[in-house]
Amino acid sequence: MTVLAGRDLESWCRDFPVLRELIAYRECCWFNPQRTNAQTGLTATGLTAAEQQLAAERLDRFKPFIARVFPETAADQGLIESPLVAIPSMRQALGQRSAITLPAKLLLKCDNLLPISGSVKARGGIYEVLKHAETLAIKNGLLTTTDNYAILAEKHFRTFFNEYKIAVGSTGNLGLSIGIMGAKFGFQVTVHMSADARRWKKDLLKSHGVEVVEYSSDYGAAVTAGRSQAESDPNCHFIDDENSTDLFLGYSVAGQRLAAQLSAMNIEINGQQPLVVYLPCGVGGGPGGITFGLKQVFGDNVHCFFAEPTHSPCMLAGLCTGLHDTISVRDLGLDNITAADGLAVARPSGFIGRVLAPLISGVFTVDDHELYRLLALLADLEHIFMEPSALAGLPGIVKITQNRDKLAPSLQEHFDSAVHVAWGTGGSMVPAEEIAGYYGKGKELLEMRNA
Ligand SMILES: *Cc1c(COP(=O)(O)O)cnc(C)c1O
Repeated sequence: MTVLAGRDLESWCRDFPVLRELIAYRECCWFNPQRTNAQTGLTATGLTAAEQQLAAERLDRFKPFIARVFPETAADQGLIESPLVAIPSMRQALGQRSAITLPAKLLLKCDNLLPISGSVKARGGIYEVLKHAETLAIKNGLLTTTDNYAILAEKHFRTFFNEYKIAVGSTGNLGLSIGIMGAKFGFQVTVHMSADARRWKKDLLKSHGVEVVEYSSDYGAAVTAGRSQAESDPNCHFIDDENSTDLFLGYSVAGQRLAAQLSAMNIEINGQQPLVVYLPCGVGGGPGGITFGLKQVFGDNVHCFFAEPTHSPCMLAGLCTGLHDTISVRDLGLDNITAADGLAVARPSGFIGRVLAPLISGVFTVDDHELYRLLALLADLEHIFMEPSALAGLPGIVKITQNRDKLAPSLQEHFDSAVHVAWGTGGSMVPAEEIAGYYGKGKELLEMRNA
């Protein structure tokens, strides 16, 4: 019998009935009773708007370097950002399939198109590598913050960074971001990859000269290995997906970037027109950092929901029980096996769960088959191709509409005028034949349902 914090599972289920849904792999939608107002929640994080601003300024300093070493970013002067687009046909299909009237405004944040690594990890992961490189170069008297950072592409810097190592544990995309960026500087990068990581991600990293260590177990084991590699080597920097504030602040810059994009589209967010954002969640750093960034900008006018696969609902389990990283989905008897490889995490980040709990509106889960169906629908209707993990946020608008009586009163009142943003978190680097396989599976599942 499973015992958690001295109590058996049945007793936890009595207090938190949503656990029964998780145990049965049933899709569900949980609203967070610990949510507070934005100001209180933000203050309690101990992190500040000023730190987020410093992260944004650091990314700006690196733009000349990024533009130089990644020519695909030159047109945007080295800015690593993705489009925000309306998806009216997809919205219509979502409404028809669920037989409810959905709010009119549904946008997709296309982080699948982020330059360099094609996923949301290009925000946090790349930021932490940049910060680490900057810190080392400044400490060794090679750089000042007023220099044009394009000089970092010069050969003597490569030689310098080649003395240093970076280690990370990953289900795939974080490894890609850190590996590609780290290798560009000349760092010796080791990526510890969990069994869920796709073959092509490992091969791509190797082609960049990154060392890839493969594990037959899940993400947790890969992270542990990365951490211990760094502990035994003072020249090795471990990028801690579960606890890093640098990673977190890198993600948070998305808040002000999204705000700028909304205003460029003449969309004003306010009490009468709130913003609702749906964020796919693995360990929690990405959606957590973005939530923090959005709350800094929009305060109580933004509502953030996390999305997880039914086989890996670690953040939901951790938040609802308050057990955070002391509960694993395996404690619930779940297998943590999902097509959403970026979200295949059994144990949530304790840092995100504890620090962000007051700012998260809720968490919902999505079945793997539904991820495939949505993948195929989005491809057919909007000609946008994403990886399965990236689709998890899309059903959010349906789930929230179905449960609108449970929403914060301010959101209920202005529900129909709210702007909904599904965060599409990755996919443009996925090889065409893999995408074709995902798409074929989605089409098959759609036809089975129609039959
Ligand atoms: C990593 C990842 C996420 C979630 O980020 P976490 O920081 O692990 O919560 C979502 N989507 C994709 C495609 C990812 O790779």
